[in-house]
Amino acid sequence: MDSQELVERLLRGERRALARLLTRVEDGSAERLREVVRLLHPHTGNAHLIGLTGSPGVGKSTLTSALVGQWRSRGKRVAVLAVDPTSPFSGGALLGDRVRMQDHALDEGVFIRSMASRGHLGGLSWATPQALLVLDAAGFDVIIVETVGVGQAEVEIASAADTTIVTVAPGMGDAIQAAKAGILEIADVFVVNKADREGANRTVSELREMQKLGHGEWLAPILKTVAARDEGIAELADAVERHAKWLDEGDRRGSRRLVRARVQIRELALGEVRERFAELGEGELVERLAEAVARRETDPYSAADELVASLET
Ligand code: GDP
Repeated sequence: MDSQELVERLLRGERRALARLLTRVEDGSAERLREVVRLLHPHTGNAHLIGLTGSPGVGKSTLTSALVGQWRSRGKRVAVLAVDPTSPFSGGALLGDRVRMQDHALDEGVFIRSMASRGHLGGLSWATPQALLVLDAAGFDVIIVETVGVGQAEVEIASAADTTIVTVAPGMGDAIQAAKAGILEIADVFVVNKADREGANRTVSELREMQKLGHGEWLAPILKTVAARDEGIAELADAVERHAKWLDEGDRRGSRRLVRARVQIRELALGEVRERFAELGEGELVERLAEAVARRETDPYSAADELVASLET
């Protein structure tokens, strides 16, 4: 089936088209990706994108599942994209196996998918932005991207998300760690999960102390949850909705999107140029220029200028 047909089916709400398009953007060639993005892009921009990050074991999956339930009860359609940088496997199996997610398995208003981030060490999968477009076009009101808090992933998700939730657990020196990793700056909402455990209040005050050292225009609320018992989840959803509202005021959402679009265009253009240089690099022109520089017939700057000029033709 061609991408055009699949996109039409997606827009009509066909579940199978959704799964197939996601597979297509994950496995597809650059050419296919380009086509899918071109077809989908006009139909996107309606979903609220939430990045949810934290160290392994803090309760991200439990929290995600509880949040899904919360938003379902508010009549929202919710999609979850779990990006696992440690897993070479993609598809539904990984998350589908997790019992708590099966609460939502039969719900048409919920879609859950896990994605490996192969070839993109410590970061999000290169296909994540495209997968988000697919889910957005499919009409989900809320999209939660769950990432393990290692390396670059959370910084990348913060740049892609409308609201970033940073999850920590009591003890474990998590708060300190978070500050070190620069996570403090990316959080729009802090969650101290496992608040049934000792030390939750201390973790909250540690975070509060760190916040005093500086924050932006928005002061990230610090919330306590017990995800496993569904406690604090309504308050968390409220906090996200408050942040969404704040973004819409004074068109902050619009200017964030502008920044994001700028970065995206630049990255794609650079990628394109790099590719063309790679092709050129094996070509005659580079050889000729290299020899000329080596023989001192021209200088490296002039040679580079000539190479760049040849890209325009
Ligand atoms: P993830 O690795 O961050 O996705 O964490 P999980 O959601 O898989 O949770 C890790 C473990 O913590 C599981 O055994 C959960 O049942 C448990 N857990 C999650 N939330 C809570 C909580 O609020 N309190 C307690 N005591 N345990 C929790």
